[in-house]
Parts: sequence; C-alpha cells; structure tokens
Amino acid sequence: MSGKELLDAIASEVIVCRKCELWKTRKNAVPGEGNPQSSVMFIGEAPGQSEDIEGKPFVGAAGKFLETLLSEMGLSRSDVFICNIVKCRPPRNREPIPKEIQTCTPYLDKQIKIIKPILIVTLGNYSTAYIFSKASLPFSSITRARGKFYESSILDMRITIFPTFHPAAALYSAKYREQINKDFQLLRDELAKRGIVKQQFS
Ligand code: URA
Ligand code: SF4
Repeated sequence: MSGKELLDAIASEVIVCRKCELWKTRKNAVPGEGNPQSSVMFIGEAPGQSEDIEGKPFVGAAGKFLETLLSEMGLSRSDVFICNIVKCRPPRNREPIPKEIQTCTPYLDKQIKIIKPILIVTLGNYSTAYIFSKASLPFSSITRARGKFYESSILDMRITIFPTFHPAAALYSAKYREQINKDFQLLRDELAKRGIVKQQFS
C-alpha cells in the first residue's frame, strides 16, 4: 500500500473510534491531513470548535495564522502534514487529560512511521511534551524548549524536533506572536539549508 493509502486507512479508523470518552461529545474526529511524503510534520494539541465541525485540523483562527506562517516560508498546507496528538475535540476546549493522550497517540505514532518526516514541529506544551517523551528528552516547559533544533531518535527514526508556541497563543499575546515569528524564521533557514524550502533573501 502507498503512504496515502496507509494514512487513509488510519483516518478511517479514527473517524469511527470510540476508545476514549471524547467520541461522545465530538461532531467529527480530526485525523489530520496533508502530503503523505512530507519532510515536515506539524503537530498540535487537539481539535477546537471549527475543526470539530469540519473534521479538518487547524481550520479556525489559529489555523489561519499557521497558514500565514507557512506561506511566509513558501509552503502551503498541502506541502506538509498537519495533525494533533488527540484526534477528537475535548468539551469546551479543555486540555486533553493524560488518559486521552495515552489512548489516542498510537494513531499519531502510526502516522509518523508512515510519513517518516525529517523534521517535526511541535506546537505548544502538550505535543512537545509528548514528542519529547518519545525521544527521551527532558521537558519542563514550552517556553524553555522552544526555538531550538533537537536531533533525536523517535520510533526508531532519526528525526529533528523543533518546538514552538501554539499558534493560538500568538492570537492573544503580541509577545508570543513575536516569538513564534522568530521561531518560524529559524525554521525557514533550517529548511532552506536542507533544501526543503527555497532559500529566501530578505
Ligand atoms: N488547535 C490545535 O491544537 N489543533 C487544531 O487542529 C486546532 C487548534
Ligand atoms: Fe479515539 Fe482519539 Fe477520538 Fe479518543 S480522541 S475517541 S482515542 S480518536
């Protein structure tokens, strides 16, 4: 089976999944989407209201900001793979609880194994904590971890991890917005160095 077929098979499982309580309150599960051969994966926390309605990741206000950040690197949504650690919306956008993360992340692990990205960008505390734990890296907070490249081993693959703030944080704080913009400049330079995006002279 091709990468696309394998990812579609996971998505079919996710949309009918009832392994944790979140299925009861979701409208739609959000498996994630994008290029099955992407060199870069963006991993957020959990679907919000817009994502729950549409069944697609990052389509609300935070998603619009993420799209802007991507386009500044010369990338569109369809060039990369975008998903979350938890595939169904927690009620009233509460934070996912450890049991939900534990129950849902086998789907994410399978997606990572199929896509085999060169680089994973973790958005916010929850996805960074999860991916750092997979990589046996110590994690204290996103504020400390962000904006650095971690050469690591996850699921028996060499993958670089780049944590940054969740784009939703940038929507209510100018300080976070400035820092996330800085992080994406670093990311753009690194992706250009590796030939994943075009070098930009600005
Ligand atoms: N926030 C997330 O973490 N993921 C989404 O898909 C949307 C908002
Ligand atoms: Fe299944 Fe994950 Fe949705 Fe829970 S959050 S029901 S484990 S897909």
